[in-house]
Amino acid sequence: MISHNALKVLYRLNSAGYSAYLVGGCVRDLLLNKQPKDFDIATNALPEEIRKLFRNCRLIGKRFRLAHVVFGKEIIEVATFRTHHQEGQEKHGHMHEGMIIRDNVYGAIEDDVWRRDFTVNALYYNIDDFSIIDYTGGMQDLKANMLRMIGDPVQRFHEDPVRLLRAVRFMGKLGLQISPETEKPLQDLSDLLANVSPARLYQEVLKFFQEGATLNTFKLFQQYRLFAQLFPQTAPVLASQPEAAKLVEAALYNTDQRLQAGKTVSPAFLFAAFLWHPILNYVKHAQEGGLPIHVAYEKALKAVLRNQTASLTIPRHLIVTIQEICFLQHRFTCRYGSAPLRLLDHPRFRAGYDLLLLRTAAGEATGELSDWWTQFYHGTPEQREALMKTVSQANPKKKRRRRPRIKKHPAKQD
Ligand code: ATP
Ligand code: MG
Repeated sequence: MISHNALKVLYRLNSAGYSAYLVGGCVRDLLLNKQPKDFDIATNALPEEIRKLFRNCRLIGKRFRLAHVVFGKEIIEVATFRTHHQEGQEKHGHMHEGMIIRDNVYGAIEDDVWRRDFTVNALYYNIDDFSIIDYTGGMQDLKANMLRMIGDPVQRFHEDPVRLLRAVRFMGKLGLQISPETEKPLQDLSDLLANVSPARLYQEVLKFFQEGATLNTFKLFQQYRLFAQLFPQTAPVLASQPEAAKLVEAALYNTDQRLQAGKTVSPAFLFAAFLWHPILNYVKHAQEGGLPIHVAYEKALKAVLRNQTASLTIPRHLIVTIQEICFLQHRFTCRYGSAPLRLLDHPRFRAGYDLLLLRTAAGEATGELSDWWTQFYHGTPEQREALMKTVSQANPKKKRRRRPRIKKHPAKQD
């Protein structure tokens, strides 16, 4: 199960006289008999020395130099052993209010092990004699299915609050139990996530979306009060509107099914499912305030996405896709003339339609609408023609859109 490229890198480092180990998630996953998604290597060779050994190597990272050895699509990350922070380093600018801000001192394997997060993530596979090196009791924990923070959990969560999310992700995806002393501070420290950059939180959410067990992990995020830190607009809606909770759970269930079947999932779709009810609530509120529905949608899509990106940096192209998927929910209700045919060609039609089906299953959208679109989507040209007629016959008086009259009530302008 070990990638050939990873083996090549290990052997080349080893025969050049350096020690080289597989480390972290890949060793953990191999021992759990799961296929690792990537392979990380730790070595005592310095970055410049690694570069000299591999033509296909580039050094990255300003804060801490890492070597990427590139084999087509596969990148093997090779890191020089780092040392953990000693007391008093705060004076030298490594720490800020208990959080690590610099992490760049080289060390030996005995140092490297202690800066890792969980014991099961701190196992090293030695290519030289095929042994596993375990300083923290990770092997025993792995056998007992136990996730345990190395060192003092409160201090280690403070050092890097992303570890809160990592703990829950590993519980969800690997089905590990969390040890009581690691679990105890978990939910009380959720506020620390406010100190993590939105770009890093986005990276964590992407992993959560893409590694299966999303429904499981989502429930744990809620249980440990971490979900609201990631999706502050969605969390309250899930608690107060059962149809919103149903929609999110159905979307996550579908995602897990797709991932298990080896299919890809689009993060935009899941973001759309998470944000749909906050958007819909905004639209309804804006309409009550007198705004035409198009304008209400425009405002809602902008505002809800802007609020969301204050917590997580969502890349621009994904924001546009999320907005399109949500706006399609409105466009699906406008079935006059040739509009339905044009919608079929919309690049997000399929994602929008999938969301419509989930909304129906969650009891929010009408079955009539999604049945109509199902028949239309799968229909022949003749069947589509007939379906379009059913809509115009049901609404015979629909005329061309009139220009909206300018309202005289200034209070309704906003
Ligand atoms: P995944 O399956 O999600 O990739 P992973 O454990 O491999 O899990 P990575 O982010 O790839 O996670 O990190 C590789 C290793 O680096 C980890 O196993 C752990 O030893 C160490 N590590 C990563 N992030 C942290 C962190 N925030 N704090 C301490 N150690 C970390
Ligand atoms: Mg990894």
